[in-house]
Amino acid sequence: MSRPGRPKGEHRSAQRAGNSINPPSRSKGEHRSAQHEGSPVSVAAPGAESADLAFMRAALAIAAEAAARGEVPVGAVVVRDGAIIGRGGNSPIAHNDPTAHAEIAALRDAGRAIGNYRLPGCTLYVTLEPCAMCAGAIMHARIARLVFAARDPKTGACGSVVDLFAEARLNHHAVVTGGVDAEASAALLGAFFAARRRTEPEASPS
Ligand SMILES: [Zn+2]
Repeated sequence: MSRPGRPKGEHRSAQRAGNSINPPSRSKGEHRSAQHEGSPVSVAAPGAESADLAFMRAALAIAAEAAARGEVPVGAVVVRDGAIIGRGGNSPIAHNDPTAHAEIAALRDAGRAIGNYRLPGCTLYVTLEPCAMCAGAIMHARIARLVFAARDPKTGACGSVVDLFAEARLNHHAVVTGGVDAEASAALLGAFFAARRRTEPEASPS
């Protein structure tokens, strides 16, 4: 039985329906995973910060496209050797698919691009802290590094709710950097939810 009062169906159950997207308190908090101390990946090369910003801007552009489709604005890109090999925007509503998060879409796109279900040596940039599902997919893909923008205090699995990348019993650990262009991502999400509250006043914040 469908519930009355939600004729357009379950926007609130779409990805990251929370309204309280906070920029991270540690703006450059490189929160290293427990393993791989001394991994060369963890040492920022000259210009690494500006490269991170440029790729995050690409992910933010995809997030803005998602917002234009009425999806929660989250975007992701997969980068290998300095080039984007996969892109994905959040689209669970359009696809009636709870797994259609930006990270999953970007991983699939990258996998198809290189003909491999594993993406070793790749970096995934995403505009919002990944959830547990996406953290799992990132691990299965063997992503070497994860860079995200805003934190998600409701579903974030990189330290906000749980920290799966610090879980030593899981066998793959990406190096995680949070807070890259967090303010821009938080602003995009904030504007999206503010607009939705104006058009769906009955949908009170959870
Ligand atoms: Zn997710």
